[in-house]
Amino acid sequence: MILNSLRQLKHLKKNQYLSTSELRSLQEEKLRNIVAHAYKNVRYYRRLFDGAGIRPDDIRTLDDLCKIPITTKKDLQGLKQEEIVSGGADMDKCVVKYTSGSTGQPLKIFLSPGERDYQILLNLRILMENGLRLTDKVAYLINPYRFPKSKFWFQRSGILRREYLSVFDYPEKHAALLMRMKPDVLYGYPSNLTLLALHIKENAINEIRPRLVFSVAEALEPNARKAIDSIMNVSTCDILGTIEIGDIAWQCEARSGYHVSADAALVEFLKDDGRPAGPGEEGKLICTSLYGYTMPLIRYAVNDICVPSDRTCSCGRTLPMMESIKGRANDFIILPDGKVIASCFLVIIMQAFHDVAQYRIVQEDKARLIVSLVKGKDFNARTPDLIRKEIDRITGNALRVDMEILDELPRDKSGKIRTVVSKVIPGMQEKISV
Ligand SMILES: [Zn+2]
Repeated sequence: MILNSLRQLKHLKKNQYLSTSELRSLQEEKLRNIVAHAYKNVRYYRRLFDGAGIRPDDIRTLDDLCKIPITTKKDLQGLKQEEIVSGGADMDKCVVKYTSGSTGQPLKIFLSPGERDYQILLNLRILMENGLRLTDKVAYLINPYRFPKSKFWFQRSGILRREYLSVFDYPEKHAALLMRMKPDVLYGYPSNLTLLALHIKENAINEIRPRLVFSVAEALEPNARKAIDSIMNVSTCDILGTIEIGDIAWQCEARSGYHVSADAALVEFLKDDGRPAGPGEEGKLICTSLYGYTMPLIRYAVNDICVPSDRTCSCGRTLPMMESIKGRANDFIILPDGKVIASCFLVIIMQAFHDVAQYRIVQEDKARLIVSLVKGKDFNARTPDLIRKEIDRITGNALRVDMEILDELPRDKSGKIRTVVSKVIPGMQEKISV
């Protein structure tokens, strides 16, 4: 098991430096395999291919990819599990992930344990390429419901040591824990990391000196990056990930643009008219997982807006480049006593409600939040009350929470719905000055 992981990691390391033709032939071989598998074992893809009049043999090269119709989250949501999951999959062993409800009804994603491990290795490659050492202590600021329940044996012997901090804690608690923990690496949501950085500065804390900081899951705005970097004396590495396909793109030590993990996912950028975006042009992200056999995702519309790039990176890696436009970050929420809450508090609370198709939380004034919901499949009438209770719990009942149910929420320019919006301190991330 461990030997296998080490072998895969070695391949992943090598893949970063393949020549264009080597990378292309690796991608095409993986593409042919996944397409043949999906057609044979997944009813949805058989119907999709038959409907488009194509056979797996028609998809031989990357140039053939455009023959396959695009699949949206909506296309998959209405379908039964057995339509979208591979016929031979051992469902009892599968790992289930949910996409967030910010851009529509959450979608269940199924991964075999091996596919989940491969996603972890893809993430580990990013961390190691950015300087993670096996003996580093990493502090993860994440959803407490996702804290692992046990440690691997090698972690007890000082390899890949990890500590977990709840995103729901306030910066003073994070700071107190981190001062004791003295992590080499911080990994978390930029909204949390920004508040932590500002707290470190305000209180002149010297004991928190990570060597590396990774920002995931939310937009990292330039001023938030500047605050984290200058206060913690680091250069934050931003990772662009999706629940569906894992980490798609990431920054190398050059911190200029993003490398696409093109050995694990094919990435296309399509303009509104459906034509490919050229270098420097904005396009919607369409992804094909090259390793997800349990629930294949072929030409799946992720819908983030990104910009492909044809430049090569000064680091020497040959993985293709793109620029990211994640849209504007969520706002912070301020409580009447002046305490500031990171948007990820609310985002993570909402992730637990799989019957909500869409939501937006707006701080109208210093005393009031409005939570707008669009009902999803199997909507539970008690959900609005449960959401209110969860928000009351993390804000200490400091805000009035009004719930409203709408038919649809308006989208912003990036196609996403900003889920946490403040009318009290809008765009605080943009205004941070250090
Ligand atoms: Zn690079």
